[in-house]
Amino acid sequence: MKPDHGLFVPEVPGIMKSLEQFYMVTRTDSEGSITYTNKNFLNTSKWTPKRVIGTPLWQMFPDSEEGQSQAYLIWNSVTSGKTWFGTVEKVTRTGEPYFVNMIAIPILPTGEEQLSVTFLELDITSDVQLRDQLQQIAFIDYETGLMSRYKLEATVNDFIKEAKSFSLVYITINHYYTLKDLQSSESKTELIKSFSNRLKRFFRDDPIARVGVNEFIVLTSFGDWYVQGFLLFLEQHPIYIDNFALPLSVSGGIVRYPEDQKTYNHLMKAALTATKDVVDNGGGKIASLSAASHKVLNRRAIIDQKMLTALNLNNLQVVYQPQFDVTSGEVTVYEALVRWKDDELGYIMPDELIPIAEENGVIHEIGAFVLGEAAKLAATWHKNGHPIGISVNTSVREFSNPQMKKKIMDILQTTNCPANCIQLEITEKFAFQAEEENSIALQMKALQDEGIEFALDDFGTGYASFRYMQHLPITKVKIDKLFIHSLLTQPKTQKLVDGMIQFSKSMGLYVIAEGVETKEQFELLKTMGVNAIQGYYIGVPVTSDDIIY
Ligand code: C2E
Ligand code: CA
Ligand code: CA
Repeated sequence: MKPDHGLFVPEVPGIMKSLEQFYMVTRTDSEGSITYTNKNFLNTSKWTPKRVIGTPLWQMFPDSEEGQSQAYLIWNSVTSGKTWFGTVEKVTRTGEPYFVNMIAIPILPTGEEQLSVTFLELDITSDVQLRDQLQQIAFIDYETGLMSRYKLEATVNDFIKEAKSFSLVYITINHYYTLKDLQSSESKTELIKSFSNRLKRFFRDDPIARVGVNEFIVLTSFGDWYVQGFLLFLEQHPIYIDNFALPLSVSGGIVRYPEDQKTYNHLMKAALTATKDVVDNGGGKIASLSAASHKVLNRRAIIDQKMLTALNLNNLQVVYQPQFDVTSGEVTVYEALVRWKDDELGYIMPDELIPIAEENGVIHEIGAFVLGEAAKLAATWHKNGHPIGISVNTSVREFSNPQMKKKIMDILQTTNCPANCIQLEITEKFAFQAEEENSIALQMKALQDEGIEFALDDFGTGYASFRYMQHLPITKVKIDKLFIHSLLTQPKTQKLVDGMIQFSKSMGLYVIAEGVETKEQFELLKTMGVNAIQGYYIGVPVTSDDIIY
């Protein structure tokens, strides 16, 4: 039997031909690496024939616990010689989800031929989307009859409007995707239905929603002790599948309105965090938010709320950290770093501020403010005859705005700042997205034509870093402080840093080491040939009043 000719009926190649017409067809070797795909598959998945060959099967599935577990489940089934059939969520090369009905057929090893697996798939994305839309309209989860997450949100908002006190309880079935006795999709549906019934019986008239495959929310006015009693109830009323009582582990988190959190989004996030705390500690409990998590979330929620309602640009400040150029022996660039001082919360540092601002969209205003300040300062230095550059951090979310280039050029024009006095720093996460979204790369190239340089920040912490150099107009790299910290204590790090410097320089890039704190680090990096040094050894970030040119 020649596995590359056909699949289950190799003597009749015509059958394969007709299947190829209607199905997406892929084949893998015994390791799960793709060895063949047809046109239908390439069209839907957006892979190119060159790149897809040799790619592991797992990469076609969402990079979530759910997606990866499903891939392993299918793989386990076929490698044990069983055909697998079911509905699967997959992702395109650019990360868009799509849904298929899949048949995975193992072709067992014969003689010298190794195992290979053929996958036949039909795209059912539009059906799934239609179902989701119907669900949204109907406000009902079609499988269990529980509320959908849309109805839940509406109900929570009604409760909040009516000023009702309630607990929002998040409940999840642990290890759902790897439950042994539940290989078929019918038994999984059965489990979800039975579990929903247990919830209904225990919580009676309380609103119950299904918010994920194995995730549920209950809104209740009962106290924690009652909610926790659900686990005992479940033990006393086990769920039977094929005459077996299923040993289920359930975890959950309780958050109270109004004491703990005040909006639907914040309640959901907090309940998820409380549940995660439980799962991380072994699961099998329903607990309220730990004091530590409560504090972190509260601070996050307060910062989020403040940013949206009361962020006064006057409370933002920009500090500047010098970058020492080894060849000229002078500081040639300063990096602009944002600070937010709030009367109640004190200083909020960027590591806390930026992720929240990226999530709620305020990053656009913050970014424009920092660039405006930096451009004003650089323009003054330039006017005084000191051509010192300022490096500004940017978020990919800012560049998702197709007007970003124009925004930047407008700021430079109103501040009279020459474009070559400004450079922009991007992170690897940014670079990754820029590679996928053509409009980002185009805007970057247009800015480079105007004279703005780009530096790749936190170099070495992401993956496939060198790839970006070919696609994006990057002329500088900043080796992350993580590597510099262990430079003198870890011989391996030393080799790695040396390699990064030599490789980057061979590609014509200007290399900056950041987080340099001691003379020894400084000297060693100099002998390795680094172009510039940034870090407390050269100078801490200071306000513009402290820098005179
Ligand atoms: P980054 O770009 O890697 O900035 C360097 C961070 O390391 C700064 O922290 C800086 O104060 C700190 N640092 C500098 N030298 C040393 C050193 O010798 N030792 C140690 N241990 N740390 C040093 P900061 O200001 O808290 O900024 C954190 C991150 O927040 C930045 O990392 C940057 O990614 C981001 N960020 C800061 N300002 C902005 C901004 O205006 N916009 C955007 N999008 N991101 C920003
Ligand atoms: Ca930076
Ligand atoms: Ca950095």
